[in-house]
This record gives sequence, C-alpha cells and structure tokens, in this order.
Amino acid sequence: MNETCGICGGDGQIANAFGGGSKRCPACNGTGRKSEESTLLRDVTKTKPSHHRPQGKGERAPKQTWPATFEGGQLAKEVQQSSCSEDIKSKLIREIIEYETSHGNCTQTFIKKIRKQVRPRSS
Ligand SMILES: [Zn+2]
Repeated sequence: MNETCGICGGDGQIANAFGGGSKRCPACNGTGRKSEESTLLRDVTKTKPSHHRPQGKGERAPKQTWPATFEGGQLAKEVQQSSCSEDIKSKLIREIIEYETSHGNCTQTFIKKIRKQVRPRSS
C-alpha cells in the first residue's frame, strides 16, 4: 500500500518531457506512493458521467391539461359537457387546474363559481 511510486520515484513529480519544469506524476497523482487501486477507482468514476447524458430541455414533464383531483376532474367534465365554446371550456379547465395547484383541491365555493359560468346543455 505504501510502496513508492515507480514512475516518479516517490517525489510525486516528473520532469516534463517537452522541457522546462516538472509536473505532477500521473501515476500516483502527486502523492509519491504507488496507488494503482485508487487510480483505478478514480478512472471508473471519471468515465461514469459520460454515460449519463444531461437531460435536454425537451424532457420536461408535459404541461398539465386535466385536473389531478377527483373533484377537479368532475368539474372539468361538467365544463367539457357544457355548451360553452371551446375557448371558454379550456379557459375554465385551466382555471380549475390552477386553483387546484395553488389550493391543493377544489373547494365547494370554487366548484359553484365554475358551475355558474357553465350553462348545461339544454337539449
Ligand atoms: Zn508517482
């Protein structure tokens, strides 16, 4: 374990082959000790990240288009089945999702408020 590095002779530095000064010994990483095991481990951890490519921007979760709670879903269904225009429907459903996201669920007051804006199909 504490063997002297065979590359640098134990001083942790090797003469630069291209002339001028010396640099840290790559075999012992400047410790002057033979440490094949730790070098090996370092190499393994060094090559690992290249296999894990960073996630691209396009891999984010898709935009929520439907309420997550039961009440919100029921309410959104009522909106969908109403005779409102598609514009109003999507606006109301977005409102439900936003309310849900900030409040955690849909209160009866909110449900009533949405229902008031939705005219049920008369035919
Ligand atoms: Zn060395």
